[in-house]
Amino acid sequence: MGETLAVFGGKPVRQTLLPYGSQWIDNNDIEAVIMSLKSDWITTGPAIDRFEKELSDYVGSRYAVAFSNGTAALHAACFAAGITEGDEVITSPLTFVASSNCVLYTGAKPIFSDVDPKTYNICPASVNALITDRTKAIIPIDFTGQPANYVELKRIAHEKSLVIIEDAAHALGAKFNGESVGSFNDMTMFSFHPVKHITTGEGGAIATNNPVYYEKLKMFRAHGITRDEGKLEQERQPWEYEMQFLGYNYRLTDIQAALGNRQLKKLDHFVKIRKDYARRYDNAFENMEGVVTPFQAKGSQSSWHLYVLRLKGRFAKLRKEIFEALKAENIGVNVHYMPVHTQPYYQRLGYKAGSCPIAEEIYEQIITLPLFPKMKLSDVDDVIDAVRKVLLYYERNPKTGE
Ligand SMILES: *Cc1c(COP(=O)(O)O)cnc(C)c1O
Repeated sequence: MGETLAVFGGKPVRQTLLPYGSQWIDNNDIEAVIMSLKSDWITTGPAIDRFEKELSDYVGSRYAVAFSNGTAALHAACFAAGITEGDEVITSPLTFVASSNCVLYTGAKPIFSDVDPKTYNICPASVNALITDRTKAIIPIDFTGQPANYVELKRIAHEKSLVIIEDAAHALGAKFNGESVGSFNDMTMFSFHPVKHITTGEGGAIATNNPVYYEKLKMFRAHGITRDEGKLEQERQPWEYEMQFLGYNYRLTDIQAALGNRQLKKLDHFVKIRKDYARRYDNAFENMEGVVTPFQAKGSQSSWHLYVLRLKGRFAKLRKEIFEALKAENIGVNVHYMPVHTQPYYQRLGYKAGSCPIAEEIYEQIITLPLFPKMKLSDVDDVIDAVRKVLLYYERNPKTGE
């Protein structure tokens, strides 16, 4: 264990780089894509309908609408919720930029609420304090796959007539108080980017139980166009359609949906492996001095998109050194996320660093470890060995001159 770290010229724990996330594509998936290519439809066709049906069955929603990516799906959800210029939407800063960019697309203003110091999810009390008469919606993020506190958030939304658009890009397959993520909020977004639970290359979806949102989402993804006789504003010729609002081309292809259908069948298996690996990490790190394992709130069952380790005390100050040392051991660590309001674009819009102190402090102390179903048990153990090796070194050799 007293070995030289790879970053100082020692032998790395592993010979090849283990990424932090990656897709699982098998012959079954490849066959589905080939079959789709040989069929009559390669864009919106029967595979899309099947994918939307099977996804909504899985998450327990009345409807699901597929999109070209999760960001497009969030944009569509903001449109369907009626979010527009002059409105405010409260979201978390500890997320990918898409969670608040979708609000900017509509001309409305994202408001960043601080997060809970234990779950790193949006803090309901902070949300409550930020509500004004311009507030239209809340976009909570189920950070790392753990659902946010929807008992409190739904109570607040109900009281103040706000729409909840759940960013569940991390949380496909997760549960909150026994209910599937996707079944209990106004709209819930999923992403099918390759690092997420299932993939369609690029892709996303909104799950909803609301028929009005459903119709708007479907039209938004296809230029705001309808051919549906019941929806036409006036009588039309058989070849005519109506564009009723400004929509986009946000469609998923049938080829991708065919892949998505096969991936969905493996989702439970993927989530189980993620949970097992997360437990193995927990067991290895729980009693280690100087690190905090992910806190799990009562009633929430994470689907474990990410495993985020938090460094304490002296280790927290050495996060950069530890990050680089793990990289040199060929462990593809990452950090999720630089708080969105501290990004240069947001700074230019007038957002101030220091406005979400808890999120900003968490960001300084976290490291994401590799976690994906294609990993082998021996890969998980490589990560554990590397973390032990690096932390042991920095425990024995605290940096001097600081
Ligand atoms: C991946 C992700 C998105 C966006 O999804 P894309 O499909 O890549 O557009 C949005 N929010 C969060 C939290 C994500 O992790």
